[in-house]
Amino acid sequence: MLERSLKRKLTWGFDIRAHKAMSTDTPIARGLLPERLIIPMNQQAGPAAVPIAEVGQRVRKGEMIGRPGGPRSAAVHASTSGRVRAIGKEITPTVNGLVSSLCVHLEADGEDEPAPPREWPQERAARIDAICNAGIVGLGGAVFSTAEKMRGHETCELLILNGAECEPYISCDDMLMREHPQEVVRGALAMLDLVGAPLAVLAVEQDKPEALRAMREAADRLGDSRIEFARVPTVYPAGGERQLVEVLTGREVPSGSYPLASRCICQNVGTARALDRLIRQGEPLVSRIVTVTGHGVAGATNVEVPIGTPIRDLIEFCGGYRGEVALLILGGNMMGYALPSDDLPVTKAGNCVLAAHSDEVRESSGEWPCIRCGDCADVCPPRLLPQELLRASAVQDFDRLDALGLNDCIECGCCDVVCPSQIALTERFREAKRAVAAAAARASMADLAQERHRRKLRRLATQAEHSDRRQDDLIEKIGSRDRRAMIEAAVARASRRRDSSKTTH
Ligand code: SF4
Ligand code: SF4
Repeated sequence: MLERSLKRKLTWGFDIRAHKAMSTDTPIARGLLPERLIIPMNQQAGPAAVPIAEVGQRVRKGEMIGRPGGPRSAAVHASTSGRVRAIGKEITPTVNGLVSSLCVHLEADGEDEPAPPREWPQERAARIDAICNAGIVGLGGAVFSTAEKMRGHETCELLILNGAECEPYISCDDMLMREHPQEVVRGALAMLDLVGAPLAVLAVEQDKPEALRAMREAADRLGDSRIEFARVPTVYPAGGERQLVEVLTGREVPSGSYPLASRCICQNVGTARALDRLIRQGEPLVSRIVTVTGHGVAGATNVEVPIGTPIRDLIEFCGGYRGEVALLILGGNMMGYALPSDDLPVTKAGNCVLAAHSDEVRESSGEWPCIRCGDCADVCPPRLLPQELLRASAVQDFDRLDALGLNDCIECGCCDVVCPSQIALTERFREAKRAVAAAAARASMADLAQERHRRKLRRLATQAEHSDRRQDDLIEKIGSRDRRAMIEAAVARASRRRDSSKTTH
């Protein structure tokens, strides 16, 4: 198998302590079957799925319980067999933080009875629909609809398989590549067929030799020359989509665009495996591998978890908490966020649960004013000016934030780490994004209201026009006959009506 040379050196990010070994010395654990599951409809980057299961209904594992809620959405399935106990709104973790989402509460019956396997269609369009209906989304964390990525494929020259798991603590992709390389390679080849690209490059970081070896051997066994390998430097955040495209092709993804603008499609290795399972076993996406780690959990490891499993059950499955946990984080320590409770469910976006001791949490001794040293700009992967973004976000100057490329901020946290003034820059940028989104929503509501008002005025004008036209027609009619006779006849009719009404009373 060919090894691809890197087209660009990394000039951003930094080498960071990985903390991965604590979860990679045991195989992926299986057999977790919770009694109750909370399965959110809002698990993908696009619109939420729409529940189709009913309260009281018995469902089997893999049965659709939420249909796709529109373009860029994906279906949601029962992760085990059981009965639907309730459908209601809950706070659930998503890629954008905690949101209120409609959830199906499923009481497992312990049988784990699967629904009949799905057929893999022959036609390309039907295959794309099948991917959407199987609920497959990007498992690297962005949960973007895989079907949607496949739809706009015409200009794709290179499929990038992202096995560069750069965030500290997280090792689920590493373990997946070590234990299921054949499935990942087969899934990658199926993706190549779907997008019609000539080549796939599997990007793995240099510090994952076992994964790279396993993937090479699997590709050799399949003997397909359309797969190359690339060893990516162990630099955080080299695993970001845009960063990988840049490193592997030398092309920059334009601001505000997806990698397809640079003729590439990126897919996570877990997504490739999910596709292979759909094709070969007819199974939709009902589980994912989650890294459970940190000094606050007794048995750090990776677990194949049914979607909707409460995090509490997952922690218990790993031996429970150990000592005093300072923070429970969903994701790694750089891009993850703190959870308020372990009652929340594992979703498709949840690649890691980090039970962090106080020695694993960066304590801030308070912020100091920005000294404009420029260190934050030196490490920023999309080459933004975090210090300028900070100033613009402080005064909510949305136009300036837009001009500075706030939307290109991948919230990697690199600027926080190097800032000598200990300013929580990334959190400021998250807040600024939320403020921009809220302002955009308000503006679009105002636009909608204005549009409704404009439509109403148009409707009234049209009605008035019709009524004028009817009146004109009438006048024309009246004018053509004897106007006086018609008026007298009308007066007589009215007088007769009055008389008859007096008689009745
Ligand atoms: S690293 Fe911190 S102090 Fe230096 S310019 Fe950036 S925000 Fe200011
Ligand atoms: S969090 Fe945003 S601004 Fe800071 S380094 Fe990462 S991409 Fe740049």
